[in-house]
Amino acid sequence: MQLSLPLEWSAPRPAPANSTMPWSEADYGRLADLYVETGGDIRAIAALMGRSATAVWTKASNLGLAVTGNDVRLRKCLGDGCRGQKLFMSPDRGTRICPRCKGDRHLPWGVY
Ligand SMILES: [Zn+2]
Repeated sequence: MQLSLPLEWSAPRPAPANSTMPWSEADYGRLADLYVETGGDIRAIAALMGRSATAVWTKASNLGLAVTGNDVRLRKCLGDGCRGQKLFMSPDRGTRICPRCKGDRHLPWGVY
């Protein structure tokens, strides 16, 4: 069987449609959703969002989506800033505070 490279590999690819657009709150939300749906497939997310893989990876890292742990999944943040309204990537079931809320000095520990 002869293998041939997919055409798209050799064709110049246009810049992602939204590559110059600033990231909105909704974009971050969509990123988080897609991250779960695709199992963290950065390239797939980039294609779906019209962003570069590098941008998606950077944002995912900033959001703390690219976490490693024993039981990674989206969990509701119980921090003051989210109050159970927002999901974040939690490395294990004992982690119920999102990175953003962790930066809040007023966060009372032991809320989970
Ligand atoms: Zn939070």
